[in-house]
Amino acid sequence: MVGAGPTGLATAMLLARRGFDTAVLDRDDDPPGEPEEAWGAWGRRSVTQFRQIHVLQAGCRALLQEHLPDVLEALGAVGAVQFKHVASLARLLPGPSEERDFSRYETLTTCRRPLIDFAFCAAARAVQGLEVRHACPVNELVTGRPVVDGVPHVCGVRTRSGETVPARVVVDAAGRRTPLPSMVEAVGGRRPEEEALEAGFVYNTQYYRGTVLPEYREAALAAVGSISVLTLPGDHGWWGVTLYHAPKDKAMRRVRDRAVFERVVRSLPLDAHWVDGEPQGDVRSMASTANATRRFVMDGRPCATGLVPVGDAWGFTNPSIGRGVTLGLMHAVDVADAVSEHIDDPAALAAEWDRRTTARVAPWHAATVDFDRIRAREVEAIREGGPDPFDPADPSVAGSRVRDVARANPPYKTPGPDRAELEALLV
Ligand SMILES: Cc1cc2nc3c(=O)[nH]c(=O)nc-3n(C[C@H](O)[C@H](O)[C@H](O)COP(=O)(O)OP(=O)(O)OC[C@H]3O[C@@H](n4cnc5c(N)ncnc54)[C@H](O)[C@@H]3O)c2cc1C
Repeated sequence: MVGAGPTGLATAMLLARRGFDTAVLDRDDDPPGEPEEAWGAWGRRSVTQFRQIHVLQAGCRALLQEHLPDVLEALGAVGAVQFKHVASLARLLPGPSEERDFSRYETLTTCRRPLIDFAFCAAARAVQGLEVRHACPVNELVTGRPVVDGVPHVCGVRTRSGETVPARVVVDAAGRRTPLPSMVEAVGGRRPEEEALEAGFVYNTQYYRGTVLPEYREAALAAVGSISVLTLPGDHGWWGVTLYHAPKDKAMRRVRDRAVFERVVRSLPLDAHWVDGEPQGDVRSMASTANATRRFVMDGRPCATGLVPVGDAWGFTNPSIGRGVTLGLMHAVDVADAVSEHIDDPAALAAEWDRRTTARVAPWHAATVDFDRIRAREVEAIREGGPDPFDPADPSVAGSRVRDVARANPPYKTPGPDRAELEALLV
């Protein structure tokens, strides 16, 4: 396994539990001894979003419950909080509050990503037959005799220190900026084709701490004209507020200044109380790259055999709806199944990897990209002073039931400044 992010560790744990000797090699440093040190002391230069807020969606919690309950336990031990978002929104609806069980929609959050990685590492280190090595970058692929004509067959990796680690299968879990496609080219394979959609956003996050976590008066993710606001509770009295905007929106760059950031959040009546805490550090800004998938099998031929990608290394999305780890885990379960069924037949493994990826995670990825595409269009139109292009009849908007509701009702508008009022705040 190249990469000890959540996806690589999950795939490795699933394989080790089935009796495969599994090694995870990661470029970054070892996690510190205590979870609280992970926030300040863990150097994770390879994961640029490491200090942006993270939530694990309900689907992720369900997958962990079914396949990796020990990770759930480890998340609890680092202080992850259950986030009953749907239940808290249901309470805001007018009319008598219905008694309904929303527990399947509960998500999990530490809001601070280093604690999520700490929990995955702690759980992985306790699994027999699984070795996790940090500060061990993989620099090259090692190849053997091809099993498919003209396609390199990977049978191990070489680390920066020059050590060769042989493997029956190498899994690329090296994240969105994985260097493995270049390594495939270096051993004579075709580079996986990348399908990208440039709809990046700029994320600006300010953390706070207090004795009581703020309550929800609005959805955790709210679109306010040309900007979006994301509010997430976290561990140990921490919470995070993110304002995100289009990269072209130069005026919004001013929110990197905390005073401006807070002025904007305070102008949103239903979210204003989220900045009533003790600020932790400064506003952290990150421009996210686009959405993309990498086609590893093209016209029925893999770029290499003996190598399969998983998680962000296969496909990543803008974090607008916080699904990355959930999609990675979904993929991890399928990739672990494919590897354990076909470890002795590299060509069949490539075909099975492709079949499973196309069948389950790819449609989720596509739906996430649709959300982004629609929002990016909307943001652009509002910023340029045009009408909202939202079209509830657009088949990519959502399932048919959601479209019917959208057609029959006026659009919900989060209370807040219009574009001119917003620009007046950004001084
Ligand atoms: C701003 C932002 C906010 C986000 N918020 C959320 C959220 O709220 N919820 C959510 O679910 N997702 C979120 N995501 C997405 C999430 O961060 C990713 O989907 C997730 O990190 C993918 O996990 P991974 O294990 O596939 O890859 P990564 O976490 O990127 O891990 C890759 C690992 O590979 C290692 N590596 C790289 N190259 C090498 C090499 N040559 N040798 C050895 N090791 C190597 C790295 O050190 C790293 O540990 C967010 C993303 C961004 C950009």
